Amino acid sequence: MFITYKIHRFRKGGINMTKFVYLFTEGDGTNKRLLGGKGAGLCDMTQIGLPVPPGFVITTEACLEYSKNGNKLPEGLLDEVKENIKVCEELTGKRFGDVENPLLVSVRSGAAVSMPGMMDTILNLGLNDATVQGLADATGDERFAYDAYRRFIALFCNIALGLDEKEFYDILDDYKKKKGVQYDHELDVESLKSLVKDYKEICRRETKADFPSDVFKQLELAIKAVFESWNGRRAIDYRREFNITEDIANGTAVNICTMVFGNMGNTSATGVLFTRDPSTGENVLYGEYLLNAQGEDVVAGVRTPKPIIELKKEMPAMYDELLKVRKILEERYSEVQDFEFTIEKGKLYILQTRNGKLGPNAWVRTSVDMVKEGLLTKEEAVHRVKPDVIEQLMHRRIDPNDTSTPVAKGIAASPGAATGRAIFDADEADKRGKLAQKVILVRTETKPEDIHGFFAAQGILTSRGGKTSHAAVVARAMGKPCVCGAEEILIDEEAGFARIGDVTIRQDDIITIDGSGGNVFLGEVDMIEPDISDELFTLLNWADEIRKLGVRTNIDTPEDAALAVKFGCEGVGLCRTERMFNLPERLPVIQQMIMAETEDERKSAINKLLPMQREDFIAIFRVMRDLPVTIRLLDPPLHEFLPRTEDIERELQMLLELKAVLNKLEAAPNLTKVLDYRLFEYLPQIQEIICDVIKLEDKELLDMLISSKEHALEKIAAFSEVNPMLGHRGVRIGITYPEIYEMQIRAILEAAVEVAKEGLEVSPEIMVPQVCTAQELKWVHDIVERVASEIEGARGVRVAYKFGTMIEVVRACMRAGRLAEVASFFSFGTNDLTQATFSFSREDAESKFLPLYNERGILQDNPFEILDVRGVGRLMLVTIEWARKTRPDIKIGVCGEQAGEPRSIKFCNSAGIDYVSCSPYRVPIARLAAAHAEIEGDKFDLLYR
Ligand code: PEP
Ligand code: MG
Repeated sequence: MFITYKIHRFRKGGINMTKFVYLFTEGDGTNKRLLGGKGAGLCDMTQIGLPVPPGFVITTEACLEYSKNGNKLPEGLLDEVKENIKVCEELTGKRFGDVENPLLVSVRSGAAVSMPGMMDTILNLGLNDATVQGLADATGDERFAYDAYRRFIALFCNIALGLDEKEFYDILDDYKKKKGVQYDHELDVESLKSLVKDYKEICRRETKADFPSDVFKQLELAIKAVFESWNGRRAIDYRREFNITEDIANGTAVNICTMVFGNMGNTSATGVLFTRDPSTGENVLYGEYLLNAQGEDVVAGVRTPKPIIELKKEMPAMYDELLKVRKILEERYSEVQDFEFTIEKGKLYILQTRNGKLGPNAWVRTSVDMVKEGLLTKEEAVHRVKPDVIEQLMHRRIDPNDTSTPVAKGIAASPGAATGRAIFDADEADKRGKLAQKVILVRTETKPEDIHGFFAAQGILTSRGGKTSHAAVVARAMGKPCVCGAEEILIDEEAGFARIGDVTIRQDDIITIDGSGGNVFLGEVDMIEPDISDELFTLLNWADEIRKLGVRTNIDTPEDAALAVKFGCEGVGLCRTERMFNLPERLPVIQQMIMAETEDERKSAINKLLPMQREDFIAIFRVMRDLPVTIRLLDPPLHEFLPRTEDIERELQMLLELKAVLNKLEAAPNLTKVLDYRLFEYLPQIQEIICDVIKLEDKELLDMLISSKEHALEKIAAFSEVNPMLGHRGVRIGITYPEIYEMQIRAILEAAVEVAKEGLEVSPEIMVPQVCTAQELKWVHDIVERVASEIEGARGVRVAYKFGTMIEVVRACMRAGRLAEVASFFSFGTNDLTQATFSFSREDAESKFLPLYNERGILQDNPFEILDVRGVGRLMLVTIEWARKTRPDIKIGVCGEQAGEPRSIKFCNSAGIDYVSCSPYRVPIARLAAAHAEIEGDKFDLLYR
């Protein structure tokens, strides 16, 4: 991509010159691209009257010129710098390089976006053997002056001259040892002077030149070092990792700012503050300070800083000024600010401000408060909170009041927190899971064959791998917390323990992982269950005022429906009925229905099921009241409800063995003898059978059981399919076993009549899965109409219902126009549609090759999590277009997993979808994401991304 720059020019002596340097009083505070984030902030703060020390910014354009010219400073730059230094001298009354009252400056990098760690700061620039004495005289503190000098030489040698910082630290440590002191500030002035000599000696040895004493030379070298850091390895890697492209940030600015000192006695201090509490969002000044210290002491943790409220007692006037600054900053930026201050001999200076990084509760609370305070519009407040913030709030998470300290840190790969026994082996995890124990699967890295361990675990912890590692991808897909790449943990899977320094975690030790923050804790940690706070409730209501896209929910039970209503859903977009079939008391009836030999046998089973299903729907309709409820008729292949062949085979084997034993025993079967044959070690079901057989002394019962197992095996074999997911399922079952669909349709409509009698305006929507052709849909539609008429005849009431289809098969997309003749709504089943479009299944992809595909960039995302707009999305667009040609008012929803994911929601909004339907916990995320999609407008490039 070509980026064009507006080169800033001015005229000097009749010649057009590029302007590379801006005083804080003249730079455009909104132009972060030119001045970098830090520089723009300093200019802006200066211009709104905040007490920023005098200084200036060298633009990012100068940096680009520098690189373009083969690392040569642009012509005229140093002259401009000198002119601006002169202004700083006038403003401070000090002089750069002056022996009596020297001006010192800090030199800092600053790109358009913050890139922490890219380049350190050089402080105290302008010191040399002469000016250090001037500083000592001017401050009356020789120790202070030499301390500043030795810090400057070490920093300068490291950053500007590229020397390894280790030797400087080592010598400092030697001095401390020699003097028998623990902290740097305990070193006396003689030691500092001697340290300065040693440092300069290292410089001479390593660079074959004296440490530069010319202050302008120092400045020139520092500026060059900052420019070069832009193309340093660290910065390039950082930009690649965080996708910082040239149009986001190009080049770094250099900020040159007059030094102020917080370490000039007890009327001086320094600190880092937030305009509000960054974790709770409470509207109070928040942060810490140190009396008589330099900024780096706060960060370095040499002394423990005090909470800012103590400044109210120590320096009340300064505290009041900080409160004023806080108000001015928030009014200016309409955003919580994270700012640095220094008090030099009772005078306050602000050295930096930037938008604060907040915790999830704080994002929500401050957004709502700032609307009430008139700092933000509702739309700005909604847009300010990113959907992933809500995602964090909708998982179990660590209570922010818990004071536990993590023992290790890794990558926050899948949100939520979990506690359990550390288990180092997937088989073991599986076993423990079956014993209802809570486990955390701890592995160096995971492999596809560990998948059963994932199912059993509450969370996953690995010491290797990033956000696209196998562990991360699979855990996210399962919605389980995951911390990966916690490299400081050394895991010995064979031996069953892990080490973090001198801490050992053995199998069964309780640990807690926080997949939202990437932390690992020993033992249990207090957790918070997801809920909607008053502030979140308010924010989501504002989101509802903005969004056009509907948000429904996918549920199977009335309890889930109630939760989704609490979270603000506008109806059920998908009620799967198969999970109702799987309830333990129902399964035998379902199996009877499936394996029935005769029509009568099947009808008898169905008659038992009808009232159960009716009750299911009544309960859900009652919860949803007058909101629409889309119920999907039975979808999975029937064999899923039958016992597993291996289990029946094993039972049969047991029975046959029992028979052989009994035949051998001449006397009547007797418990002790049977025990001798250890038959009780077999399956629990068989134990009961053995008991019955023994009790009744009934060998015929045994024969009957054997033949029923043999019969079951035959039946199950008849239901087995080569490729069940592409086989006899969905509407195909409805057509081959119409009694099943008829029972479900009747249950839905009778439930609706029942609940309508209670005064509720129920809106059932009957949805058919896996439809390929309009003929299938018509077939089912005929049944619906007949059953509706029968109910009307019998009960004298007709409830309104809708009839529609899932779109989860490619042919359904292609025949959308015809399907829309029968269906009054479509719901894209993007799980199956993705599977059908890619022609690979989610399970296989996620456990076998998708992590590798993601890692190698073959696929950017997991299409089962984030809608593949280029492939599946295109199919959807065609479908929508053709469907609306036939039936302009057709309602179109999406109910696959992707429907709760913000980027996919953005696509749905642009594509003209009416609603998305997602799990209850994702409903709040979807409400916010839909509002964001609306605010950001139709920017989604639907086809050409
Ligand atoms: C789908 O295919 O997207 C869908 C919602 O159905 P299921 O996940 O039940 O197959
Ligand atoms: Mg499906």
